[in-house]
Amino acid sequence: MYCGRFAPSPTGPLHFGSLVAATASFLEARANCGEWLVRIEDVDRSRCRPHYASQILTTLEGFGFSWDGPVVYQSDRDEIYAAAIERLGDRVYACSCSRGEEHRRGCDLSKPVRSWRFSSVADEDFILRSATGGFYSYQLAVVVDDEAQGVTHVVRGADLESSTPRQAELQQALGYRALAYWHFPLALGADGAKLSKQNAAPGIELEDASRQLWRALRFLGQSPPVEVEGAALGEIWAWAIGAWRRP
Ligand SMILES: [Zn+2]
Repeated sequence: MYCGRFAPSPTGPLHFGSLVAATASFLEARANCGEWLVRIEDVDRSRCRPHYASQILTTLEGFGFSWDGPVVYQSDRDEIYAAAIERLGDRVYACSCSRGEEHRRGCDLSKPVRSWRFSSVADEDFILRSATGGFYSYQLAVVVDDEAQGVTHVVRGADLESSTPRQAELQQALGYRALAYWHFPLALGADGAKLSKQNAAPGIELEDASRQLWRALRFLGQSPPVEVEGAALGEIWAWAIGAWRRP
């Protein structure tokens, strides 16, 4: 059974880069007759805004995405993340370093605790929870949620590839299943522009949905026929699901 997901952070409206990520994970899931979930990654309340979450969902709906099951909000799940940290036991330790400081194990704990870190074998020790805001980290929340939601396949941009070893190590430490990952390249297709640059671009407009979806498909290395350009969204999706191939 295939279960994929799209997990946007509501720090702004949906931009073209997130449309591409949503399209890639949705098409992979549907082409594998799998489920596709949407999760709002608003674990860091200092950066996220609830109105962006509802705006993103409206935009996804407007583009013709349909997801399985209810939308999960990370901001509702602090207790679950706390239990996971508990479960990690002595692999978690306190750290007093500020953001700018380079952390080393055994940092000065006569200073106030700023975060709790995971003692990693494979990578640098990374933060699981910040003491300042009380927020759980992206790495921890993603791993806990993917397990809880039964996600089997993660599709996301290559900009997130560096997170994967950390997440895999956390999965192992928590006794979770291992996931399959595919990171799509960020410079693909006819547009040739780096997708990360698009992330600073303004949000995408629903009035322009067919053209934007067509662009996203081209970006993902698909070759929609000319007839599909400017067609209704349903027609573009029907073509895209049938023709989907990883670039
Ligand atoms: Zn430290």
